[in-house]
Amino acid sequence: MFIHQIPSFIPALFPRFVWSKAADRQIYLTFDDGPTPEITDFVLECLAEFEAKATFFCIGKNVVENPGIIQRIQAAGHSIGNHTMNHSNAWKMDFAAYQVDMIKCEEVFAQQKIKSIGFRPPYGRITRKMYREIDNVILWSVLTGDYNASLSSSEIISSVLPLLKPGAIVVMHDSVKASPHLQVILPAILSYCKEQNFVLSAL
Ligand SMILES: [Zn+2]
Repeated sequence: MFIHQIPSFIPALFPRFVWSKAADRQIYLTFDDGPTPEITDFVLECLAEFEAKATFFCIGKNVVENPGIIQRIQAAGHSIGNHTMNHSNAWKMDFAAYQVDMIKCEEVFAQQKIKSIGFRPPYGRITRKMYREIDNVILWSVLTGDYNASLSSSEIISSVLPLLKPGAIVVMHDSVKASPHLQVILPAILSYCKEQNFVLSAL
């Protein structure tokens, strides 16, 4: 069974990280791993249609390769966060090398005048050292599993919609791997949020 909602003991272990927010009507949609020529513009069009703002946790390498898409994300008023230069896995490398990859992404952002709103560790993999040393780490409360080919899009929709509550931070992926699900689930999530009068905001 795929767990779409982060069990509450995990944020309790790492309370300095952001897992959700206090909010009246706001929900925070986030998109990791882009910008990606095959899918990010689709996401931007959907968000624009619903007058929704969101946050993109971008891989530095993809920012270098797709400066035009980054400009469109910024022009539309969405937020952007650091997701490392090469999608590094904190459980498979030493912390110094991990930090270098994070800083490389920051440098790319600086070159392209991108203001980062925070850091999201790839795969949501966190470590005690990261917890002590990195500020402004933003995880999520709702995991759509859009990258998981063993789920169906309708299963994702029926599991995720009931979890959309004010303050939720929802993770999706503007990646090639997630795009088959994303093209179905994103319009469904946006329609549902509109029906419920949720305000879709950037972090
Ligand atoms: Zn990622």
